[in-house]
Amino acid sequence: MSNILAIAGRPNVGKSTLFNRLVEQKKAIMDDESGVTRDRHYGFGQWTGKYFTVIDTGGYVMGSDDIFEEQIREQVKLALDEASVILFMVDCKDGLTDMDMDFANILRELKKPVYVVANKADNQTLDLQSAEFYGLGLESEIYPVSSASGSGTGDLLDKVVEHFQDDDLENPEEGIPRISILGRPNAGKSSFLNALLGKDRSIVTDIAGTTRDAIHTRYKLYGKDFILTDTAGIRKKSKVREDIEFYSVLRAIQSLQDSDVCVIMIDATRGFEAQDMSIIALADKYKKGIMIMVNKWDLIENKESNTAEHFRKEILEKLGNPLSYIPIIFTSVTTKQRIFQAIELAIEVYDNRTRRIPTSELNEALLPEIDRNPPPALKGKYIKIKYITQLPTRTPSFAFFCNLPQYIKEPYERFLLNKLRGYFNFQGVPVKIYFRKK
Ligand code: GDP
Ligand code: GDP
Repeated sequence: MSNILAIAGRPNVGKSTLFNRLVEQKKAIMDDESGVTRDRHYGFGQWTGKYFTVIDTGGYVMGSDDIFEEQIREQVKLALDEASVILFMVDCKDGLTDMDMDFANILRELKKPVYVVANKADNQTLDLQSAEFYGLGLESEIYPVSSASGSGTGDLLDKVVEHFQDDDLENPEEGIPRISILGRPNAGKSSFLNALLGKDRSIVTDIAGTTRDAIHTRYKLYGKDFILTDTAGIRKKSKVREDIEFYSVLRAIQSLQDSDVCVIMIDATRGFEAQDMSIIALADKYKKGIMIMVNKWDLIENKESNTAEHFRKEILEKLGNPLSYIPIIFTSVTTKQRIFQAIELAIEVYDNRTRRIPTSELNEALLPEIDRNPPPALKGKYIKIKYITQLPTRTPSFAFFCNLPQYIKEPYERFLLNKLRGYFNFQGVPVKIYFRKK
């Protein structure tokens, strides 16, 4: 079960307000298809040390009441299917409406944990009125909150995160890399999996959301053991194009949470798109290993020796400096160009992610660098970094012990991170550093 929280409810109850409160703030994602900026519909949240993905289903209900039912089925239901916990939001100011009742009936059928969130409980009177939502007949208690101010959300989240797993999801086959192939529809994910498997599998299912669980297939290729999380083959047929897009994102989120290394596959003829960026941002938040596979390289004509280099630079520019650790490989599944190297790279990223560096090695490499470039003094005080050690976390993180940890600023942190990456191979791996008092 993945850590996915969906916020559902009729329009205007305050879903996106709560969403924005729950997820870490980042700028809105560009919808490159229409050229307009639209709000984000999913993001990364954290509460009492538990991490989860939040989906705002509201962005997907746009029409009027009469097609409400249909829209629920087509779009919101997809999100609800993927969610592990649902927040059903209602509005204290409006009170209980028919549409809320309709919604409740749909949610009841899902047989998932549903929390009724009575929003806009801005004062005590409204707070008390929220009891009327017991009339929905859902099992949930009513949680009066004010998304605008944040009041009540803490109590709600305390309950919600009880359903979520700690930190990383458990890997039942510890030591064997779990690799997921993510990317937009048509990038070549299924073809890649088929090429690795060496036989064609039937990939299209007609029934929406039927094959819900990702398939984990264990492979042994050239002496390397790994597991591929296959969600690529599960595809929803739909008239509405955006459905497929949205669905692919949901699948990606789920399979991302469930793997060690994410291979983000890009169609070379389309380039790097907003959706790719948001999946990468999410993978980075979850501290997964990440690599980019630029597929269909055979379709790029008139390649010169530096075409790939240009392409790489363009992607790195879009990623920005903090994500420049992500390796990029150019492949053609059709001609089988570099497809095994892609797997090898994914396994290397896994090895980097599980690397443990002895304290002595860290100090030997980094203390002389720090001596040459010490942290700038602040308010006349000198900052002395004494030693460095890797923390026993699942993904690489390091503690720099020093006299005045609070005085170290971001540019110097970046300097240390670059040095760390320079000495040790953490290609494809988010690395975190902390400053601790000693
Ligand atoms: P959505 O359509 O369900 O996503 O709703 P929005 O988040 O867009 O909110 C609809 C309106 O309700 C906006 O004008 C919000 O400012 C307002 N709103 C959201 N939360 C609260 C709240 O806690 N109290 C009050 N008074 N207004 C709120
Ligand atoms: P998915 O939606 O990401 O699983 O994409 P598919 O594997 O279904 O591939 C979409 C289309 O791209 C199919 O017609 C594939 O034959 C084609 N395709 C996949 N990889 C390549 C490639 O490397 N080169 C070319 N020319 N076509 C490819």
